[in-house]
Amino acid sequence: MSTVRTRFAPSPTGYMHIGGMRTALFNWLWARHNGGQFILRIDDTDQERNLSEALDPILQAFKWLGLNWDEGPEVGGDNGPYFQSERNDLYRSAVDQLLTEGKAYRCYVPTGEIPLDRDEKLGFMRQRPSLKLSQNELDQYVAEERPFVVRLMVPHDQKVQIEDAVRGYVEFDTNLMIDPVIMRANGTPLYNLASVIDDAQMKITHVIRAEEHLSNTPVQVLIFQALGYELPQFAHIPFVAAPGGKEKLSKRKLDKYRKSPQFKKMFDKAEAVFPRIGLENAGGLDPVMVEYYEKIGYLPEAILNALSRLGWSLDDKTEIMSMDTIIENFTLDRIVKSAAGLDPDKLLSFQSHWMNQLSMDEKVERCSPFLEKAGLVQDASAPETKQRISQVIIGMEDRLKIASDILDFDEFFVADDQLVYDAKAFKKRIKKSAEAVTLLEKLKEKLAQASDFNAEALDQLLHDFVEQEGVGMGQIIHALRVAVSGKGTGIGMFDCLAILGKESCIQRIDRAISLSQSE
Ligand code: GLU
Repeated sequence: MSTVRTRFAPSPTGYMHIGGMRTALFNWLWARHNGGQFILRIDDTDQERNLSEALDPILQAFKWLGLNWDEGPEVGGDNGPYFQSERNDLYRSAVDQLLTEGKAYRCYVPTGEIPLDRDEKLGFMRQRPSLKLSQNELDQYVAEERPFVVRLMVPHDQKVQIEDAVRGYVEFDTNLMIDPVIMRANGTPLYNLASVIDDAQMKITHVIRAEEHLSNTPVQVLIFQALGYELPQFAHIPFVAAPGGKEKLSKRKLDKYRKSPQFKKMFDKAEAVFPRIGLENAGGLDPVMVEYYEKIGYLPEAILNALSRLGWSLDDKTEIMSMDTIIENFTLDRIVKSAAGLDPDKLLSFQSHWMNQLSMDEKVERCSPFLEKAGLVQDASAPETKQRISQVIIGMEDRLKIASDILDFDEFFVADDQLVYDAKAFKKRIKKSAEAVTLLEKLKEKLAQASDFNAEALDQLLHDFVEQEGVGMGQIIHALRVAVSGKGTGIGMFDCLAILGKESCIQRIDRAISLSQSE
């Protein structure tokens, strides 16, 4: 068998759709599984906006996930150009060939004269009015430069047969097909033509793409055949659905997703994180875009693992897989036929798993940019800062899932006099409790005298303290937490005190006491 060559052909839209990324991943996996090549081709024939603005986020998504391409933008290759906008001559010469061989024809019927009703249109177009023009009329049309489109001549009374690697055998009746336009009046190619010529000339062996293109496939097969090209193997994969739903995940439905319980958490997280790292209006990012996951602190391993499971499975049970395992086992017959829903909770559980696999240094490295961008640390590489970040990460335990989760623990990074107290917790635990304030005063003295300020010693100190005072731990611990962290919940109390250190703890308790009296 010839070398396996797959391709992904995105239109530059300014963002990378997470469902599109899954399709790209399957192409990449199939190429890698077979030791073949993965080609990135840019479908920019209808490009109106700035190309680099529209394409960069797409390339960045591939780079972030580590999905390298063997041929395409930036890397070049022997089968280029890889931008459709640069391939017009190739499309034109193919169209000329089809015209010369009588496999396509110039159609002069103005769009307005074609019936809109499908059946009438079929009947009308099958008569191919432009082929009935006399030579005189044709000469006149040419002389007056009358606009025309080029249509492929669909053979009648035939069946287009497709053995799809996912859908199985599919057949289309050519008598139900209208001669499709393959080149517009302005000389630009239609998608079906460009795609076939590119796939053939780039020696693509497997066309793995979204199932919505299955309806384009009979036309493409006819074009392949008309041009004398060998057919690739088609594999039409189910779309990526919105959580739990049967609908294709789409950016147009964002308002609906915002309200859905599964997606809501993702939007809430975006609202909490993005403004803090300088992305106003969430940087225009949402969970349909790959960039959302990168910017909010997901790991490529987690996204790749999750995407690979959207419509493909190793067996009935394995969820967690490394890229090596996936590459080794990725075969087209294991792609499922039904739509797979993106599940934010599952995504988070993949993320949590892969985050746990990282070494402490790696975790620190992932979390640091968030702290820096939020202005919570100046230089995360300074030894004492690094030390503190890793202590907080240890304290967070499995609460560190996404790298930006570290921002929920900002109490360890703000200056003592900048600590923000959660109003509700402060009121409940300190302001309204004269007893708590008295106890905090006394405890502060004890802490000031402490010779050891590690979690174990503090545990002992606190226990001795409550015993001495004849109070329960609950009567001081909540107030203490709010006083030193500003929050009602957080990491283990003794670890929290130890990380902050004696001086900070005392200053913060002092400040909490005076705030409770002044406000
Ligand atoms: N640019 C097309 C799309 O994004 C490519 C379709 C194909 O893979 O043939 O849908």
